[in-house]
Amino acid sequence: SGKKIAIVGVGISGLSAAREFVNRGYEVTVFEKSQGLGGRASTRRLPWAYVDVGVQYFTASDPVFKREVARWLKRRQVAKWQFTPAVYADGAFKLSPDNQERWVGTSAMRVLSHDIASNVDIILQQRIKHLEPCPRGWRLVSENGPFEYFDWVVSSLPLEQALPLISNHSAMLNNISPPHRSVWALALATKGLVPPFIQGVFSHDTVRWLSRASLKPGFKRIDQGDVDFDDVWVMHFQESWSELKGRALPHAELQAVASRWFNKMLASAGVCPVSVLASHGHFWKYAQMNAPIAEKPQPFVDGTRRIAAIGAWCGSGRYEDGFLSGLSVVSAIDGA
Ligand code: NAD
Repeated sequence: SGKKIAIVGVGISGLSAAREFVNRGYEVTVFEKSQGLGGRASTRRLPWAYVDVGVQYFTASDPVFKREVARWLKRRQVAKWQFTPAVYADGAFKLSPDNQERWVGTSAMRVLSHDIASNVDIILQQRIKHLEPCPRGWRLVSENGPFEYFDWVVSSLPLEQALPLISNHSAMLNNISPPHRSVWALALATKGLVPPFIQGVFSHDTVRWLSRASLKPGFKRIDQGDVDFDDVWVMHFQESWSELKGRALPHAELQAVASRWFNKMLASAGVCPVSVLASHGHFWKYAQMNAPIAEKPQPFVDGTRRIAAIGAWCGSGRYEDGFLSGLSVVSAIDGA
């Protein structure tokens, strides 16, 4: 019938495509190598709190995505994170007010992936190793054997991970340079009082961004968790620093750098130092984009081979781009 679709990757773009295909009567299977939904917008259950280690908040500018946010808002699955951003640069801390609306999933980002995924068939812990074109359609091969037959394959992976699956079959991605940079992320539990004006801090040195997870609406502590913290923070390190240190960076070094940076930042804002009680690092290999690929994400579609590629990277890498990229491939395959 031409209506069997395989989607590889269960981040926001894969999920948004999957739901829209299902709504239009397609038979959809989503394959994901990891144990949970959401990709960079998944939520970690640490021994002390539920923490978004990737996407910290998102913005909404497109009317279609705004409608989705309004739906989430009605269901209390998102809330506005209202704070005055700050900038910490060249040793100086400055508030930097703006009018940007910023949204967070409540209690955390995972809620939104689970909401979109509710009517979608997802196979977790299934790393697709390669694709085989057969007369009856695509066969997807993982460690556990083949899955067949699909009329279309849609990759929702970062370009760098889509290439090894796709480039044997289609040249559509061949001329795009790898768009992503790596980012070290660190969740920190701290003891010590910090005034509420420090909530979201942009920076330009070792660290690019700090957010105060424990003041986001809906923040959830683990009951009887093993760390008696005052706050939880998430720090995203600069791409060049992250890539220089790489995935092999010892945790103790990451935490030490974070703790030094943190207390220097606090001092410049006139705040007493805090102590770090616990921390959890995550190396995001394909995180921040070098430069946008398009203002509005367009899918890459090879109609002859019946293969497509989507992802936030098709736009400028934001959560909204991922969502819209998912819808764009459905329009391209099924008609607008
Ligand atoms: P946004 O408008 O909040 O941020 C865009 C960028 O503008 C920020 O990164 C920051 O450099 C700057 N900025 C925004 N408000 C500022 C202020 N008040 N004062 C000073 N500088 C300010 O939101 P967006 O465009 O939707 O982007 C969302 C965020 O996600 C951005 O920070 C973006 O860089 C980030 N992002 C991060 C990753 C990652 O892996 N770390 C990946 C994709 C996007």
